[in-house]
Amino acid sequence: MAYITISKENYFYNLEQISKRVASVEQIAVVLKDNAYGHGIDIIAPLAKEFGISRAVVRSVEEAKRIEKLFPYILILAPERVEKRENFFYTINQINDIYKYQKGVNIELKVDSGMHRLGVSPLELYFALNLIKSKGLRLRGFFTHLREADELSSTTYTQLELFNKLKKDIVESCFNEIHTHSRNSAGVFRSGSVIKDEIVRVGIASYGYVRGDKALKFPKLKPVLSLFGEKVGTLARAGKSFRVGYGGISKIGNERNISIYDIGYGDGFKRVPDEVIESGLFQTPDGFKLFGKVSMDSIAINSAKRELKIFNDVSNLAKLLKTIEYEVVVSLSSRIRREVI
Ligand SMILES: *Cc1c(COP(=O)(O)O)cnc(C)c1O
Repeated sequence: MAYITISKENYFYNLEQISKRVASVEQIAVVLKDNAYGHGIDIIAPLAKEFGISRAVVRSVEEAKRIEKLFPYILILAPERVEKRENFFYTINQINDIYKYQKGVNIELKVDSGMHRLGVSPLELYFALNLIKSKGLRLRGFFTHLREADELSSTTYTQLELFNKLKKDIVESCFNEIHTHSRNSAGVFRSGSVIKDEIVRVGIASYGYVRGDKALKFPKLKPVLSLFGEKVGTLARAGKSFRVGYGGISKIGNERNISIYDIGYGDGFKRVPDEVIESGLFQTPDGFKLFGKVSMDSIAINSAKRELKIFNDVSNLAKLLKTIEYEVVVSLSSRIRREVI
């Protein structure tokens, strides 16, 4: 069966690089949404705890419940329901969300500082605060999300400037102590100095990738996830002119060993474009190539190995698929067995 390995060494290496950018490891919130970006939330969460991380960010209450014993702080970005817990913090993405919560629930207010997706408008902030007060909710955090921290533009600074101004007002007018945060992975490495007074929400960098303009000089990180396929068949007695799989886009030619491996787009290994397969641009870490289109449950590769490493770094594959590393890893089915190495 196909399987995934998670390198603890690389995960810890990445967390160490992130730790260097903050004053204390207490400030790091690891983003574990969407099955920890496809890495497996049940595997990554205990590793994060072992490293000394005390904060996690997830998408849903369902995810939060899977890790509730591990972290004293869990921020839920898009809660689908409410369950009151001391360590659950619910995001207010828009004014209407405030009505969903009962007295005493921990909430964090997200402000739209320029991303223009979710978040309460700065113009509605005081209305939101009054509503929160009158409902007796516990406002524990105030945050925003950056639009393009990975690009060499000034938008990040404009957003941070606005956020810092609002933050000052909120913290001053506020009920109790609240924490604030604004930076994702690229935002953390974008900071010129050690970040002292905020939590940081890091996802992709902890998994070993961080995109950014070359001029930003982001550090080299180490991909955590590798995907392996198991051989489930060979092309027996294949003639030179045989063509492999749907549409017959690849000729066998002089290849002696073509094997079928048990991973396909049904498992989240995306369909690679025909021209990429034809030109041999996608290669496994050991230099093997895809033959024929990716099927739902299988791929053909010119290797005779019983177990084959399909990838251990998805940067090139992401480029070939015209997408980003996030999408390649998050797509991997939760059905695939995962193990820590
Ligand atoms: C996904 C997400 C993050 C993490 O972003 P990375 O680029 O993976 O570090 C941080 N904050 C919010 C609100 C998110 O939705």
